[in-house]
Amino acid sequence: MGEAVSRTEVVICGAGPVGLTTALKLASHGIRSHILEKRPTLSKASKASTFHPPTLEILAEFGLLDVMLAQGCKAERIQYRGTGGNILAEFDQALLQPDTIAPFRIHLEQSVITPHLLDKALATGLVSISFDAAVEETGQDSNSAWARTSDGQTISGAYLLGADGARSGVRQSLGLEQTGHVYPGRVLRLIIAKSFSQIMPDMAPVSYIFSQDRRSISLLEMPDCWRIIIRVPPGASDEQVSNPDWYGPIVDEFLPQCGSRLEILGTDVYGASKMLCDTNAIGRIGLIGDALHLTNTRGGMNMNCGFHDAYAVAGGIIDALKTGQIEPFHAALQERLRIARDVLLPRTDKNVTGKDDWLSFIADAAADPVKAHAYLLTSSMLDMAPERSGKHMGRI
Ligand SMILES: Cc1cc2nc3c(=O)[nH]c(=O)nc-3n(C[C@H](O)[C@H](O)[C@H](O)COP(=O)(O)OP(=O)(O)OC[C@H]3O[C@@H](n4cnc5c(N)ncnc54)[C@H](O)[C@@H]3O)c2cc1C
Repeated sequence: MGEAVSRTEVVICGAGPVGLTTALKLASHGIRSHILEKRPTLSKASKASTFHPPTLEILAEFGLLDVMLAQGCKAERIQYRGTGGNILAEFDQALLQPDTIAPFRIHLEQSVITPHLLDKALATGLVSISFDAAVEETGQDSNSAWARTSDGQTISGAYLLGADGARSGVRQSLGLEQTGHVYPGRVLRLIIAKSFSQIMPDMAPVSYIFSQDRRSISLLEMPDCWRIIIRVPPGASDEQVSNPDWYGPIVDEFLPQCGSRLEILGTDVYGASKMLCDTNAIGRIGLIGDALHLTNTRGGMNMNCGFHDAYAVAGGIIDALKTGQIEPFHAALQERLRIARDVLLPRTDKNVTGKDDWLSFIADAAADPVKAHAYLLTSSMLDMAPERSGKHMGRI
């Protein structure tokens, strides 16, 4: 270890939604943490935009649900449609009222909520952060774990968490790898002017449109725009699919009602991978969020699962520090690995690969309130989230 070592109770690597949530949960139990962030500021990248009910309960516990409701787009209905505009199935998330204080999704860029998480964390006086501090090396002994950063700091704590994203420096320093595969084909995201709401007033904020041959596109209403998500076949270049000559006929086929009235504001193309580590607990160091698991964006679950990792593993650290035993830390990490492996990845995979059977399953579920409720418990992630204090807060 280096000469100058500063000490905190928990070292958190990465100031994404997962690292920041960990810090806030620890601070709510009086535990100090220091966050090491590679970038000079929080990331402003446009990434996750769907916040599911259990995540909203966690944000409610931190006093941030009002911000979400004020700035986000509340999505209460989920629709499955045919290209002729016919509604094949519709789910009303109000069916989840017995299960959650937030029976809806909120659509909002993750980069809007991370500064609020950081402000709340700093305001506790128990959280500090270093920017421009990429973790390059980690180590541990029987009582502590430490990280050395690119700016020459060494900081140690009783526990250390790698919440430093898909290319995790902590994971690399542990010699661990994520294994899995890149999904074939990429995803084209069209940004559409909000005036789409006037053209298709009955379109639900989360909608999937299926053609006769079971190809589909997804639509998502954001506070200031709509997004159309189109799956791109393998082999097509980003440049090719960003051209109106490529996507125009697809939009015409799936949304024939719009014609030339659809105002396209922008495009971007991204890929997705299905990846997981075999282990996420090495002594006093753990991996959570994207550092542990990656999956496709259908259903909007990966970041939400990371929020739940943060909340549960912070809970494990709180118990570990209280009892002086490492076991609660390991138990929480192992449970999050199990959830990622046995629930998150299979579920999000099914969201992508489900075709004929999937649509008949959905239509059948939507037609029966008991089955619809059971389906919504899974699509909202309520069945796979850790126990949360926020769920006992007042109904909204
Ligand atoms: C286009 C797109 C759409 C998506 N949509 C959804 C969605 O709707 N719903 C959903 O649930 N998920 C979605 N996701 C996934 C979601 O964005 C991620 O799961 C989420 O950002 C993970 O959060 P995190 O905090 O684990 O990692 P990150 O957000 O990647 O944060 C990690 C942080 O660690 C920092 N860092 C990296 N290396 C180091 C280092 N060596 N030292 C210190 N700091 C480091 C990074 O700079 C970053 O600030 C989407 C992703 C993409 C790309």
